[in-house]
Amino acid sequence: MPSAPPPQPGILEIALYQGGASKVAGVRDVLKLSSNENPAGPPPSAVEAAAGALRTMHLYPPTDHASLRAAIAEAHGLDPERVICGVGSDEVITFLCQAFAGPGDEVLHTEHGFLMYPISARAAGATPVAAPERARRADVDALLDACTERTRLVFLANPNNPTGTMLGGQDVVRLADGLPEGCLLVLDGAYAEYVEDFDGGLKLAETRENVVVTRTFSKIYGLGGMRVGWGYGPRAVIDVLNRVRGPFNLSTPALAAAEAAVRDEAFLRRTRADNAANRTALQAGLDALGIAFDPSEANFVLARLESAEAAEAADSFLQSRGVIVRRVAAYGLPEGLRITVGDAEGVARVLDALAAFRAERAA
Ligand SMILES: *Cc1c(COP(=O)(O)O)cnc(C)c1O
Repeated sequence: MPSAPPPQPGILEIALYQGGASKVAGVRDVLKLSSNENPAGPPPSAVEAAAGALRTMHLYPPTDHASLRAAIAEAHGLDPERVICGVGSDEVITFLCQAFAGPGDEVLHTEHGFLMYPISARAAGATPVAAPERARRADVDALLDACTERTRLVFLANPNNPTGTMLGGQDVVRLADGLPEGCLLVLDGAYAEYVEDFDGGLKLAETRENVVVTRTFSKIYGLGGMRVGWGYGPRAVIDVLNRVRGPFNLSTPALAAAEAAVRDEAFLRRTRADNAANRTALQAGLDALGIAFDPSEANFVLARLESAEAAEAADSFLQSRGVIVRRVAAYGLPEGLRITVGDAEGVARVLDALAAFRAERAA
């Protein structure tokens, strides 16, 4: 019998991405704090818009996303011609790797950077390279040192997942301006909206030929299940990405939901304020329990236990109480537990469970 061809180089080196768990066997009242979702749910305005769009599901969606791009451009003061929309920002990351990196090329990311960067790099046949961080914070000098003549893309999530730390504007400018010729800096702003008065690098992308920003509707906008993200960059780069984009990559309900969400400023402000208050409570609670963490700029906190064994035991204990958090050993942080900032009740519940875990271990 004839056999199937082997996959392209690099594909079999991809470690499958593990999504955050959402179920615990035998536990009914589960609190999911493992995927950085919005505890308030989606904006009602987006639900209504998506429901309305269902009536035209027999029609193909628009291929140019003109209406959503216009809404995004209006909300952020951008040129709509330089916006590209994807099936989550994951798809924009995929386009970038596919279009700009291949066999023999390097894709640089930070030591504890988002796992989709090495996954997408390998899928394109390129080689992912990790630059060391300094105490769980991106290090501009280490990133610049790690650049070679084969580096095509440099990914920096700012704030970063799973560490929750971020680089200041001056550091990001130094990184962008210090990169070699022919190398794109991708600023992943999945959590940018959680930071007060921060544009996620959009202004930098406005004035640089080598900077692209990615954003998502999955986090603060509460639309993770709809799969909508976008990118902003130089016209020439966006033009290249549009050539590899499928013409109907976003469905009509997804486009409608995202457009309603980006126009819903009240929802954005409320979520940002709620997250800040509940994050303060979560961090104060961890402090009181003597659990280490770096102050977070995002909608999660990376708790650091004494050891990998303690993190695993805490994770199991929390699960037995129906609380699901995220182990981040795959990110080089075996002692870490990434805890999404829930609503006030969710924060209290995870802190209670951690206190009980501590008490049981001490006994
Ligand atoms: C969640 C997340 C994203 C968003 O992914 P989507 O595909 O837009 O849902 C992108 N980057 C980072 C660092 C993230 O944590």
